[in-house]
Amino acid sequence: MTVVIDLHTHSTCSDGTSSPADLVREAARLGVDVLAITDHDTADGWADASDAAREVGIGLVPGMEISTKHEQRGVHLLAYLPDPTEPALAGELARILDGREGRLAAMLELLEGAGVVVTESEVRAQSAGGVIGRPHVADALVAAGASANRTAAFDEWLSPGRIGFVVRYAPSTPEMIEIVNRAGGVAVLAHPWGRGSHRVLDRETIAMLRDHGLAGLEVDHHDHTRSDSERLRAIADDLGLVTTGSSDHHGTGKIDHELGSRSTSVESLRRLLDLAERHAIASGRPVPAVVGDLSRIGAA
Ligand code: AMP
Ligand code: ZN
Ligand code: FE
Ligand code: FE
Repeated sequence: MTVVIDLHTHSTCSDGTSSPADLVREAARLGVDVLAITDHDTADGWADASDAAREVGIGLVPGMEISTKHEQRGVHLLAYLPDPTEPALAGELARILDGREGRLAAMLELLEGAGVVVTESEVRAQSAGGVIGRPHVADALVAAGASANRTAAFDEWLSPGRIGFVVRYAPSTPEMIEIVNRAGGVAVLAHPWGRGSHRVLDRETIAMLRDHGLAGLEVDHHDHTRSDSERLRAIADDLGLVTTGSSDHHGTGKIDHELGSRSTSVESLRRLLDLAERHAIASGRPVPAVVGDLSRIGAA
């Protein structure tokens, strides 16, 4: 029996389309054994997702995808099991969310200057009340008839170099890795070579991040070609980093990769959980709670 472990997914708490509970139920229906919920810059979905996971009997790893920055470029950092109330982490998440709010107003102003009028309430209408991101602006642009679809809206208005792009606050990647570890969590680089990030995340940079406490690389991701994945796996093996895989599911009509369409090995999950436990003990924090009986899949 193959075990399916999907360690990167989004809900309506950020730019996914399913509520946290529906995301978990959908995962169970599709045969996912262990799911991580990893919304952008928030732990808001953890409680509902955990309740649903207990109900349907799958494993649930609470996580988040944190916006960080290295050499002026955005780097997404997956953090599993950090205590979101730990002051340094909570403070940075609050600053990131503030930055998102300020950026939204600035983006809409720039778009208006270019003759494209989309209001803040039109953007919010595209979200279910979660963390607002560019995907919601893209959807509002589509609804206003300014672009044909979400991808076109990014290409025409919202990607770096386009009129509506605005830089927002993000903490530095090595600094955030240390914060996550001190909050009893474990940090993995999301899609290191997705969407052009390989210009910044070369082998030396990854080695430097490892020295700051990075635990793993998300090697199997839809943004990576097969050869990217193989090269990343070689770098991870060489540097002693854990490798993971995920769907980075955002839901219907968005980034449509089905839950469980990429997977992490039981061995990798076990290593991540061991590290998180060690970080929690070292920082005197309670050992974080994974939902579900992972011994069932040999990962106790
Ligand atoms: P934000 O964090 O608000 O800047 O938005 C980044 C999110 O937008 C990413 O996590 C992706 O989900 C999505 N995204 C980025 N680039 C594109 C693109 N070209 N097409 C569709 N979605 C994108
Ligand atoms: Zn996203
Ligand atoms: Fe990402
Ligand atoms: Fe993601």
